Amino acid sequence: MDDGSTFEVRRFIPESTVVEDFRILAQARYRAFERCPICLDEDPTSAEHVPPRGLGGVVLTATCMRCNNELGSRLENDLQDWFDDAVHVRFASDAVRGSRRTPRLLVRQNQNGSPVFMMDRGRIDPEVQRMLEAGERFEIVATETDPRRARLGALKSAYLASCVFLDAIPESTLAGEIRRLLVQTRDAARTEPIEASPIIDNLNIGRSYAEGEPVVELLARETGDGRAEAAISLARTVVVSWPLEPLGVRIEHVDPGGGTP
Ligand SMILES: [Zn+2]
Repeated sequence: MDDGSTFEVRRFIPESTVVEDFRILAQARYRAFERCPICLDEDPTSAEHVPPRGLGGVVLTATCMRCNNELGSRLENDLQDWFDDAVHVRFASDAVRGSRRTPRLLVRQNQNGSPVFMMDRGRIDPEVQRMLEAGERFEIVATETDPRRARLGALKSAYLASCVFLDAIPESTLAGEIRRLLVQTRDAARTEPIEASPIIDNLNIGRSYAEGEPVVELLARETGDGRAEAAISLARTVVVSWPLEPLGVRIEHVDPGGGTP
């Protein structure tokens, strides 16, 4: 601060925070298919980042232009906002007619645990600047978002990564239903709410803070009854439960000396 003091801001750490201990089973390498893995159109030519670029994604496969662009513009911002703990707001004050939009606000906390809103990069309306500097009473109105949109964005990336790991576009009923949800969203109006679906609502998504290269990895951990639960780490930023049928993997005991898990 101007007076030499420091103002410490950090991410909110939700009470539900858990550290998941997964093992890495495989790392994804670029794999394209003869059809778009989402809509099954022939000859996909659009380089697809998994996860989206803003979350550290790299080109992992190819989709068709429509699936890449139209789905990206409908889902990626919400996934990014979820990851960043960001909200979209308008400022309103008695001194200004109408409300004014600002760059999105990042929700953080200070050292005492009180909430702090940080304005993200972008142009600030001079009227908002004036409201803040004048210390006038103002109102912040947050835009309601569709909570399924971010989850469907994560599902899209996890599904594409799964195709790469399986080395095929799966033909199961579940895979077909995921594709139907994605194509339906791609073709719907931007403001259309996402259809309720247990596939979307039961998907486990989490943030990862693992360090290292932004690779896409297949993870697994023991569930306690000898079986394994699989998940996909997307560029070490987002972790999503394996969205398709159980993989049927079993984790063998590995000597601390090494070996392949
Ligand atoms: Zn497509």
